[in-house]
Amino acid sequence: MANNEHLMKTYAPLDVTFEHGEGAYLWDTNKEKYLDALCGIAVCGLGHAHPAVTKTISEQAAKLLHTSNLYQIDKQQHLADQLCEISGMSRVFFSNSGAEANEAAIKIARLFGHKNKIDNPSIIVMDNSFHGRTMATLSATGNRKVQAGFEPLVQGFIRAPYNNIEAIRNIAENNNNVVAILVEPVQGEGGINIPDPDYLNQLREICDQQNWLLMLDEIQTGMARTGKWFAFQHNNIQPDVMTLAKALGNGVPIGACLANDKAGEVLQPGNHGSTFGGNPLMCATASTVIDTIKADNILQNVNQMSQYIINSFKEKIGLLDGVREIRGMGLMIGIELGADTLNHDCTDFVKLALEQHLLINVTAGNVIRLLPPLILDKQQADIIINTVSDLVTASLQNKAAA
Ligand SMILES: *Cc1c(COP(=O)(O)O)cnc(C)c1O
Repeated sequence: MANNEHLMKTYAPLDVTFEHGEGAYLWDTNKEKYLDALCGIAVCGLGHAHPAVTKTISEQAAKLLHTSNLYQIDKQQHLADQLCEISGMSRVFFSNSGAEANEAAIKIARLFGHKNKIDNPSIIVMDNSFHGRTMATLSATGNRKVQAGFEPLVQGFIRAPYNNIEAIRNIAENNNNVVAILVEPVQGEGGINIPDPDYLNQLREICDQQNWLLMLDEIQTGMARTGKWFAFQHNNIQPDVMTLAKALGNGVPIGACLANDKAGEVLQPGNHGSTFGGNPLMCATASTVIDTIKADNILQNVNQMSQYIINSFKEKIGLLDGVREIRGMGLMIGIELGADTLNHDCTDFVKLALEQHLLINVTAGNVIRLLPPLILDKQQADIIINTVSDLVTASLQNKAAA
């Protein structure tokens, strides 16, 4: 029997091992079937074992896995073309993870600052944000738990409250070292926090006035998750830099840092790189992910399922006392609960749902987070709605009875 004896204790995994998957479903080693409403934390947007993705991986693996960036990689160039077409950006750097994509963005911002004669370039980052676990990205992250014990942190970040334009204006007036804002269009780990509808527009305006780069971390919100290719497209603006990862490869590790004309010329040969970054296997797979999202009308499905799920939750549990808010954008859905109204820890919902063969997540302490696959159908949506509603209702009823 395999066990955890030789793994570092970085994770506290649930007591279940999955053996195979298909679409929105997973099967564990006891052949039990589960509905996956988390899809590997917003990674497997097209579901598990998608035939088109499997075909590309198999064919590419049989042809060529890796050559390094010492040579031209046509699959990488093609994926960059596709990403720029759907995003309106100009240039792409490929990495292997989200944190690394953000590292590239942070390096672009600093180099951009130095090129503009700013000696101590600083980046504005938000409270409750999440940008990754490398030293620079954990320093940018607005969560003390992620940072604690890893001091000294990387310098050059200025923190501001999320969804607060006045705070950004204040920083602009009092600080001459700012070169960029790094922000999530919707905060994922922070609790599915959706800012005011014109928040990004106002950030864009300030960045234009100040010659700052607007850098959007779309690692969780990107690739159709919110019902558009990228969340910024709800706002009719363009960022200067955008980072992607998670759903880009549907499970193969790939990240990307995209930039417009202005920011896309900052990095020059020798400034940055990655051995694996943008290798043929990852890029061919991500290209198929984009083709499939287009061919299968995934955006339309996300918008339909989103409305259906959010409205159903509001009808079923929206008026319960312990339910503070039901919110979502596309298939990024959060149910915020009053932790004091529950008869158990909010995080226990993960285990309770697992017992019902449903995979969900709890984030920010009191928010049930749903990130179901983008291919979800109505019958699967009903399972999620009913199971979660019943669990929430029971947890509040028991409290009242106790
Ligand atoms: C997941 C995530 C990251 C980190 O991505 P990794 O691939 O785990 O390094 C960064 N930013 C956001 C918004 C994320 O959701």
